[in-house]
Amino acid sequence: MDKPTRLVHGGREPRRQHGMVNPPVYHASTVIFPTVDALESAAANPFEGVYYGRFGTPIHFELEGLLAELEGGAGCVTTCSGLAAITVALMSVAQAGGHLLVADNIYLPTRKLCAGMLARLGMTTSFFDPRITPAALAELIRPETVALVVEAPGSLTFEMPDVPALAAVARAHDVAVIADNTWATPIGFPAFEHGVDISIQAATKYVVGHADAMLGAVTANESWYATVRRTAVEMGYCAGPDDVYLGLRGLRTLDVRLARHADNALRLCDWLAGRPEVEGLLYPPLPDDPGHAIWQRDFRAACGLFGVQLKPCSRQALTAMLDGLELFGMGFSWGGFESLVLPVNLTGARSATRWPHEGPLLRLHAGLESADDLIADLKAGFDRLASAT
Ligand SMILES: *Cc1c(COP(=O)(O)O)cnc(C)c1O
Repeated sequence: MDKPTRLVHGGREPRRQHGMVNPPVYHASTVIFPTVDALESAAANPFEGVYYGRFGTPIHFELEGLLAELEGGAGCVTTCSGLAAITVALMSVAQAGGHLLVADNIYLPTRKLCAGMLARLGMTTSFFDPRITPAALAELIRPETVALVVEAPGSLTFEMPDVPALAAVARAHDVAVIADNTWATPIGFPAFEHGVDISIQAATKYVVGHADAMLGAVTANESWYATVRRTAVEMGYCAGPDDVYLGLRGLRTLDVRLARHADNALRLCDWLAGRPEVEGLLYPPLPDDPGHAIWQRDFRAACGLFGVQLKPCSRQALTAMLDGLELFGMGFSWGGFESLVLPVNLTGARSATRWPHEGPLLRLHAGLESADDLIADLKAGFDRLASAT
């Protein structure tokens, strides 16, 4: 069945739920076993069926099953945040003395995890230009390299690595491929068809989709799934059942929301491209974006998150623009129903490449509002910017 149909019908079984459309939420720590035999056999196979709250409840298994199916992985484990999902993925491949190859446009807390905790545990990390060629990547692989970590596109600067080409090099050297697939969501980029072993979702973003719950998911292929699930359990990471419910509910409308987010993003880009204050736009679905060919070839959907590179202006002019916006909330995270703006600070965010622009970089999230109203809000912002300069 097609993905829109699975989004609606997967992860629930009304006939087993008294006819109720949505599955119930169990709040559980203890699971009671009727006999010693039942308890011992559950303890021998804690990953099959219910065992203890931390190992998951039926609604966890519904969401995890549906996410794995949508993305094309063998299995999925949910976590309490997107960053916890990244931690699980990296700890699944970690070993003392191991080496990571990480794209320079990676989510900043991932970089901090590599430079912090993983470095203390004896891992080293090399960062590389996300637009690296496969041949140049091959040169960076060492005997102790355990994983390649990419994000397509990066969520601040939107460079698009060629995931299948880089993954092929990694595989040839027995290096695991980890992708943060939050931008594209499980329906926008079928990570496992493109050589990824472990795919991360900050489900907080588009899966939940309403800016009200923190949730992560790690999906893995046959070779990695058992290790990933064991790692999550060893670390004690688990998602709350109400948040998992919100993730499952968010999935029902994921593809219609994404279509509107992407449509609004294109409308905004089209308008912004004609503004004298704008130096460039960072959004792979745009035909003249450097990542467009890769996006066109490998992706099946876009989302509403993109970058706007402004021409240099004073801080006072920029704050006059941003402080007065009425529809664009200023803050972190994205993927909810509303539009957002973030003045991007790249301090400490790159080490292998240099961001070549001088002017301010804005990250916009096109929400589900009317594009005309969003454009009017931005236009008033540019008017304030001009009069403050
Ligand atoms: C937000 C985000 C995360 C982290 O998700 P949280 O749920 O906020 O911990 C990871 N990766 C990307 C690309 C993100 O945008």
